[in-house]
Amino acid sequence: MILIFFGPPGSGKGTQAQRIKDKYNMYHMSTGEALRSEVAAESELGLAAKAAMEAGELVSDEIVVGIVSNALNIVGGYDGIILDGFPRNLDQAKILDEKLEESDKKIDAVISLEVDREMILKRLAGRRMCQGCKTDYNVYFNPPPDDNECPKCGDQVICRKDDNEQTILDRLNVYENETFPLKEYYASKGLIHPISSSDIDSVFHECCKAIDSAKD
Ligand code: AMP
Repeated sequence: MILIFFGPPGSGKGTQAQRIKDKYNMYHMSTGEALRSEVAAESELGLAAKAAMEAGELVSDEIVVGIVSNALNIVGGYDGIILDGFPRNLDQAKILDEKLEESDKKIDAVISLEVDREMILKRLAGRRMCQGCKTDYNVYFNPPPDDNECPKCGDQVICRKDDNEQTILDRLNVYENETFPLKEYYASKGLIHPISSSDIDSVFHECCKAIDSAKD
């Protein structure tokens, strides 16, 4: 099964994908996470991606398509793949279609997480993450301890570099101009499952319903 998690930054794609991957035994491919690991490792790819990421812009299609192609070739052990944060523009969507067609695969569902702008701003500005176990926190909704030591693994809870006010606004603009048009692209193929913002458990429940209906 191939699932796309679609939605603006801060819509909860990563949070839901984490839960869905466990329930459905799927491989979670987050292009943002993969790129952050490359940046942290100071690899050639990471160095090429860093400036665009810190500015809230899209990294080149060539780089992200390379990362996703590797993940698509993963076989065995999983019952599918979740694409989280990919595709982010029409060219990426078309390249994905071609790659899937070559290997006789298809997208089963595009889960569209819909959240209003005010909530997104709060989620992103307040977002924190443990750099060790990747547990999510939010200074407004689920604050980390005062000393920023993760209670789960003891590592530091940090703020992503691109979760500052200016970069958040830039990322939202990129989303509206380049990524949002994909909704129409996938709607025309009958693949979109819209899910309105709510608490994490309710959204998870709706995601499961959408996935189960796409499997039938
Ligand atoms: P995310 O964690 O999904 O919010 O992604 C963080 C950053 O990684 C984005 O702001 C982009 O700079 C870069 N990025 C992630 N996915 C893509 C993609 N599919 N295409 C281009 N850039 C991406």
